[in-house]
Amino acid sequence: RAREHGVRLVNARVEKIDTHGGRVRAVHLNNGVIVETDVVVNAAGPFVNDIARMMNLELPVYSELHTKIILRDVLGVTPRDTPLLVWLDPQYLPWSEEERAIFAEEAETRWLLQELPPGVHETRWLLQELPPGVHGRSEGGAASPYFLLQWTIHLDPVAPTYPIPLDPQFPEITLRALATMLPGLIKYFGRLPSLVMDGGYYTKTPENRPLIGPLPIKGAYIIGALSGFGMMSSAAAGDLLAAHVTGAKLPDYAPAFLLSRYDDPAYQKLLAQWNQNGRGAARNKEKPKGVLFLRQAANRV
Ligand SMILES: Cc1cc2nc3c(=O)[nH]c(=O)nc-3n(C[C@H](O)[C@H](O)[C@H](O)COP(=O)(O)OP(=O)(O)OC[C@H]3O[C@@H](n4cnc5c(N)ncnc54)[C@H](O)[C@@H]3O)c2cc1C
Repeated sequence: RAREHGVRLVNARVEKIDTHGGRVRAVHLNNGVIVETDVVVNAAGPFVNDIARMMNLELPVYSELHTKIILRDVLGVTPRDTPLLVWLDPQYLPWSEEERAIFAEEAETRWLLQELPPGVHETRWLLQELPPGVHGRSEGGAASPYFLLQWTIHLDPVAPTYPIPLDPQFPEITLRALATMLPGLIKYFGRLPSLVMDGGYYTKTPENRPLIGPLPIKGAYIIGALSGFGMMSSAAAGDLLAAHVTGAKLPDYAPAFLLSRYDDPAYQKLLAQWNQNGRGAARNKEKPKGVLFLRQAANRV
């Protein structure tokens, strides 16, 4: 439909953006093409800062790696009508004595014996701080053997790279954690069949609120930091961006997504009280990881 309205899709990498006199002039692609333009939308997902830096801008975003597994349940231990299950308590993983002894010897695997954070669940959909049991399903219909497992064990900010780094231990770890709720999975301990492991990045602002609107270079726009809800919010986010680009009337919530909100001292005060999901005062007074990461990055610059 976009093509019907004149959109031309060019499959190439943006390598450079020319700006002059405070405004966008041209975009250089890796196929040698230079597109002269006075409007650029930065929608590069985890790489929004790479594109921003081409215009000498730095965005307050960081990325987390989120990995998922698709298990072909050949033993049929997961009921096909299994609802979304979310385990909300920390837990110890059920390793055998032998495994524990091996892990205890090796410093880099010792952390597996420690208490692990909550969040084991079996769905592609991962939104933080959702109440348990909202919705979910085994992957596919009644005849499908597939089961989805997901666990964001490592939430520390990372520099995004592709292909994404996949931890070969992740399937077994996630399997053991999920077996607390689905004991049938114990049959797979140490003998997982071939499976698909995949994932991507949640790119976030410090308060987990997207960036949608103009950048401080005339003609440059951003739609990014869509975190773990970018598919659900894509229509509304795209609509808001289009209103900015075309100069249409903006909805009253538009300022909440502007990059310039961080220039407002009143907003900075609110930010200091919020946790990393943009909610109320952080009860434990811990600084959100994203905020600490961004401060360290700012110090490095
Ligand atoms: C495991 C996982 C599960 C998820 N599940 C859900 C879910 O169930 N529901 C939901 O709403 N959200 C979900 N999300 C989040 C959702 O995928 C993201 O929020 C969304 O994809 C972000 O969209 P985006 O367009 O900003 O970035 P992306 O989808 O990452 O798109 C960015 C694009 O920019 C391109 N690009 C980057 N750099 C350049 C360059 N230099 N030149 C040219 N092109 C470039 C990339 O190739 C890519 O095509 C999930 C995320 C993960 C990782």
